[in-house]
Amino acid sequence: MQENAVKPGDMPAEDFRRYGYQIVDWIADYFENIEKFPVLSQIEPGWLKNNLPASAPEKGEDFGEVLGDVERLILPAVTHWNHPNFHGLFSTSTSSVGVFGDMFAAAFDMKAMLWRTSPASTELEDVVLDWLRQMMGLPNEFEGIIYDTASVSTMQAIAAAREKADLGIRERGMSGRNDLPLLRVYSSEHVHSSIDKAVITLGLGTRSLRKIECNERFEMLPDKLADAIEEDIENGFVPICVIPTIGTTSTTSVDPVDAVAGVCEKYGVWMHVDAAYAGPTAIIPEFREHFKGCERADSIVVNPHKWLFTPFDLSILYCRDLRIMKQAFSLVPEYLKTSDESTVKNGMDYGIQLGRRFRAIKLWFVMRYFGREGMTERLREHCRLARLFASWVEESENFELLAPVPFALICFRASPKGVDDLNALNEKIMNEINASGEAYLSHTKLNGKFTLRLSVGSIRVEERHLRKVWDLLNGAIR
Ligand code: PLP
Repeated sequence: MQENAVKPGDMPAEDFRRYGYQIVDWIADYFENIEKFPVLSQIEPGWLKNNLPASAPEKGEDFGEVLGDVERLILPAVTHWNHPNFHGLFSTSTSSVGVFGDMFAAAFDMKAMLWRTSPASTELEDVVLDWLRQMMGLPNEFEGIIYDTASVSTMQAIAAAREKADLGIRERGMSGRNDLPLLRVYSSEHVHSSIDKAVITLGLGTRSLRKIECNERFEMLPDKLADAIEEDIENGFVPICVIPTIGTTSTTSVDPVDAVAGVCEKYGVWMHVDAAYAGPTAIIPEFREHFKGCERADSIVVNPHKWLFTPFDLSILYCRDLRIMKQAFSLVPEYLKTSDESTVKNGMDYGIQLGRRFRAIKLWFVMRYFGREGMTERLREHCRLARLFASWVEESENFELLAPVPFALICFRASPKGVDDLNALNEKIMNEINASGEAYLSHTKLNGKFTLRLSVGSIRVEERHLRKVWDLLNGAIR
């Protein structure tokens, strides 16, 4: 039993120090030796639960023992997102300095609702987001706000678009009204599922989401978008928001944002750009072309927790006019009233959350430690490695690329001659590689074809890691 645990007060400072050093050493070793672990956890479902007591301990336990259980019980149940051979979904790019940021955030534990309860969080957030805005080449008037995930950022953006449409929804809601026509949100057919979930959450319903056809490169066709809006207006529907994506989830295709902006401006519709994955590459001068038209957006979401070396979670929503978000969400009960309301920014006014974590500090650490140069070089290297892998695929007789590679994701499949069911073969290859623990790939379906997705984004990834996957893939078709 932990003797101190029965006395009032926190863990004694000397114990905190001792365990704290131990934990930092542990994490440093973990990062150094991460390649020794299987990428995907090898446990069976239920294993961890079955190894933990059904109820919490009555008496406090020795913390050394708790840490021992991290090694014994938690570690085997970890899928190592930070492993350089984690190529599924979108790889995470977390850096050690980002981890330091989360340590401070937990220590200060400020709930950034009002400026006065959290001046550091409120002001650092503004500064850091403005630094990134400048790096991304977004216009001065764009102001950012941090949410946890892109799913929430996008939901907030659609809520702002709905507010801008001036339908009295904040007060009168959407149910029980016969004066409210069908509201429409538009995206490409390759849009992330978070948009579907946002329209469900906001009470618009999935029927409000109209998915626009794409070309053979999986990019939204702006003419089809214009036709859809025209048709909807003729039917008495109200278009409120269009969501082009820069870096779609399946293939990282880039919707023609500039052309889409033209359509949005013509019909007076809010344009929200989903750049959750690829947004950070706007800081690379030669990638800026993908972002043409973003300066005409009403809002844009970027996730540093995906590809800007920042631990989960940190998603940024930039808005051309953040006042609309405030108009939609500000609600100040008596117990939150302050005398400085009109002169400061209170984070609680910009969304459904009251308290907000001090997330800006980890991005601040990342930006200061790596600088624009360091971040740019790392992102460039990921893209170079992805192109290199794509060139191996292209040169091989046994594999084929299934989508262009604008960033650092390769969509491909094994296509050896003489195999009838390529979908079954590729699924089998993926499952075998994943089960081996050597690497992790995920998949999508493109034009009915089971497609392997290999994302390059770990801060530790090197050419040898991609070579390893390539060898595994070639081994799997032999
Ligand atoms: N948008 C795109 C293009 C994505 O790829 C993803 C996740 O992969 C999301 C949104 C959702 O991100 P989050 O997990 O931050 O909600």
